[in-house]
Amino acid sequence: MYEQKMKQLVLATCNEDKVQEFKALLDLKIELVTLDQFPQVGTITEDEHTLEGNALKKARVVFQSTRIPALADDSGLEVHYLYGEPGVYSSRYAGENATYADNRKKLLENLRGVPPRRRGARFRCVLAFVAPNNIEHLAEGACTGVIVESPRGDHGFGYDPIFVPAGYDRTFAEMEENLKDKLSHRAKAFENMRPILRRFFDEAEDS
Ligand code: IMP
Repeated sequence: MYEQKMKQLVLATCNEDKVQEFKALLDLKIELVTLDQFPQVGTITEDEHTLEGNALKKARVVFQSTRIPALADDSGLEVHYLYGEPGVYSSRYAGENATYADNRKKLLENLRGVPPRRRGARFRCVLAFVAPNNIEHLAEGACTGVIVESPRGDHGFGYDPIFVPAGYDRTFAEMEENLKDKLSHRAKAFENMRPILRRFFDEAEDS
């Protein structure tokens, strides 16, 4: 019944930054389609209180509406000194229509005067895959590091200019994209999800 669409995967995002990163990370011989092609899906409100909840919600809604296997992610920056904030609220830390710069500014203000050894943080990414026959899988990846005192670099997006991954002295925004793609929370979540997707699509090919 799903044969036609079995070798397609719909990415539950319209965010172009993310689509590019997903494409680079998903090393699979399948057709990737994005939500731009399915206006009927509309906006999915990310109103769950965990990354897992939001990722699963998005993948379920997209699969139910397109009937194509769907992959969704949710990620955020968890700062230890702030008890895991901004976390699931990372994109709207400084308010509903906050820009990336507004969010960084608020975070730096909340960490003002906090010494380097207490500025530990991690990016965390959760991926959810939803497919026919009630298939649902979650995979997660994290990248630990520290928050620096002022923004550096102009690659990437979001909190990249203020996050230095463990073992490096450059922020994500000062790194070439290839290196970030190897180290990032999303890269690790994809590593964990890839065998699941591979098995699913190989089996789809065999059937
Ligand atoms: P999303 O829900 O996965 O889109 O991520 C929520 C927010 O977390 C984004 O708006 C960014 O501010 C932040 N974020 C997620 N991943 C990254 C990253 O790789 N670099 C910088 N910021 C990120």
